[in-house]
Amino acid sequence: MGQDQTKQQIEKGLHLYQSNHTEKALQVWMRVLEKSADPAGRFRVLSCLITAHAEMGRYKDMLKFAVVQIDTARELEDPDFLTESYLNLARSNEKLCEFQKTISYCKTCLNMQGTTVSLQLNGQVSLSMGNAFMGLSVFQKALECFEKALRYAHNNDDKMLECRVCCSLGNFYAQLKDYEKALFFPCKAAELVNDYGTGWSLKYRAMSQYHMAVAYRKLGRLADAMDCCEESMKIALQHGDRPLQALCLLCFADIHRSRKDVQTAFPRYDSSMSIMTEIGNRLGQIQVLLGVAKCWMIRKELEKALENIEKAQELAEGLGNKLGLLKLHCLCERIYRAKGQQRELRDHVVKFHECVEEMELYCGMCGESIGERNNQLQALPCSHFFHLKCLQTNGTRGCPNCRRSSLKPGYV
Ligand SMILES: [Zn+2]
Ligand SMILES: [Zn+2]
Repeated sequence: MGQDQTKQQIEKGLHLYQSNHTEKALQVWMRVLEKSADPAGRFRVLSCLITAHAEMGRYKDMLKFAVVQIDTARELEDPDFLTESYLNLARSNEKLCEFQKTISYCKTCLNMQGTTVSLQLNGQVSLSMGNAFMGLSVFQKALECFEKALRYAHNNDDKMLECRVCCSLGNFYAQLKDYEKALFFPCKAAELVNDYGTGWSLKYRAMSQYHMAVAYRKLGRLADAMDCCEESMKIALQHGDRPLQALCLLCFADIHRSRKDVQTAFPRYDSSMSIMTEIGNRLGQIQVLLGVAKCWMIRKELEKALENIEKAQELAEGLGNKLGLLKLHCLCERIYRAKGQQRELRDHVVKFHECVEEMELYCGMCGESIGERNNQLQALPCSHFFHLKCLQTNGTRGCPNCRRSSLKPGYV
């Protein structure tokens, strides 16, 4: 297969893919990969295969193609191709929750910069790196990466990237329990979809709706949460987007749990768990297990709650997800207090505080914790963040954490 035919076949696959004939598109692309004698064409078809497998949640295949793409890029001896393939490798690892590897591949990308093409990828690299830091619960670094990604998006007028960063920021603030901002950013993402998204894939709309649903639930606006989650799930089902289906099912289950309707929540947690397991989203599995544990606590079945927490702990330790550990020690505290087991209770209190220390989850101005209850936060340009009320009382002449002076607060 020569250069022209390769190009033609890639286009044919794209057309099939965009009209939802995914399996047929994959067949066409696989044939190009086998038959084409044009290395640049093979590189491009690998990019298509990687994106398609990412969207279907087939992350292990995604990683396999990313590894092949690295070899193809080396063969081409082109730094732009090499940067792009390292970004794909980073992303595959991010999806498989291999956060340390993600960060190290992202750093490789950033060190290879030089030409204009790779510079344009830097925003996406920063986003992926930020998501990986989130997975490891390294919040200040995550925020730093998201701010960088947002700057790239603004400078290149890249609205799609801005939309994705806004969703990640929504997740960031949801985890740190600033629910106002957790809602603000996905709303901003939804606005971008409305204003610029006519030619975009519907997954952007679905993604912003999902993150809005999460924030609405945390704010106790359960009817709004339900509407957004249903909208997101509808698109996820139409597009065979398994990763998003799993997240929506988790959100549905959480909404029912918030209504104390444990009966309805359980089967949704189960469905979410089986997809999360199938695609390899271990971070999602931790969230499901903790949700299930909370349901058993509502039913006062403390032993069953502990069983699920134990499984979550194993996963969280494996991933290095410190926030997951913090949350589960907090649940154990409540359980052992109810059971009147003082020694176990003390153990978990100690471990809980170790997690807080490790994550530096306290405000550098008042010393109180961050992320324990709904509290508005504000970041400075150095990406250190504080309670909004503390910044307002003390002014922002300098950052108490790193002593860097700053005149105005950062914009995230
Ligand atoms: Zn404070
Ligand atoms: Zn600072």
